[in-house]
Amino acid sequence: MRLLILSDIHANLEALEACLDAAPEHDQVYNLGDIVGYGANPNEVTERSRDLGSIFVRGNHDKACSGVSDLADFNPIAGLAALWTRQKLAPDHLEFLRELPQGPLAPMANVQLVHGSPRDEDEYVLMASDAYLLLAQATAPLIFFGHTHVQRCFLLDASKGPGKSLVPAYKQPRGKQSVKLELKPDTRYMVNPGSVGQPRDNDPRAAFLLYDTEENSITFHRVPYDIERAQEKIIAAGLPERLAARLAEGR
Ligand code: ZN
Repeated sequence: MRLLILSDIHANLEALEACLDAAPEHDQVYNLGDIVGYGANPNEVTERSRDLGSIFVRGNHDKACSGVSDLADFNPIAGLAALWTRQKLAPDHLEFLRELPQGPLAPMANVQLVHGSPRDEDEYVLMASDAYLLLAQATAPLIFFGHTHVQRCFLLDASKGPGKSLVPAYKQPRGKQSVKLELKPDTRYMVNPGSVGQPRDNDPRAAFLLYDTEENSITFHRVPYDIERAQEKIIAAGLPERLAARLAEGR
């Protein structure tokens, strides 16, 4: 089976469409949450995500924008965007977001899907040291997570211990690029596909991942998209300008 793994789309329709256009053939979509929040197209992106279907895990912005959680943990810009999104969302999309399940989910025996981490749906796993602790306690050898908006793979070898965390290396980041990684036996992985709609790893291109269960491989992808159009919509919507600027910076 070939699984398209998307995370942190954040209501960025241009980025989502670019990813779907570039995505290799696949059987199902796993969506790791934060469908909305920040971007100017929450209804269009929620609708497209629902059409793509398959398995969803809720993100902190999905919770805040649908009223499941309050905005206490949000910075002022994120809070403003969440309130704007809540007002814009059509009732049935609001309902869909409100009902999204909390991770971890186990769509197959060896895989877990989470937004933040297996122990806390809102935890940011940025540091390798945090990832190794989680991997040591993991109940599945392959965990897909989002939330940090950073494309990354942490791994723990059963005999050799922590491996070097893998950052997909794109020589001269430009155009569409992909990096494939064969998964090894007796190794546990925490893999972040990166963010579709608001990358924060200094690469402004939209990010996603393909997991091929037969090959036992993951392929990281980056694709350019119409950033200017996404920015114009954010400004036109009256959302904070910083949300437009950061798209071009990839942070
Ligand atoms: Zn997010």
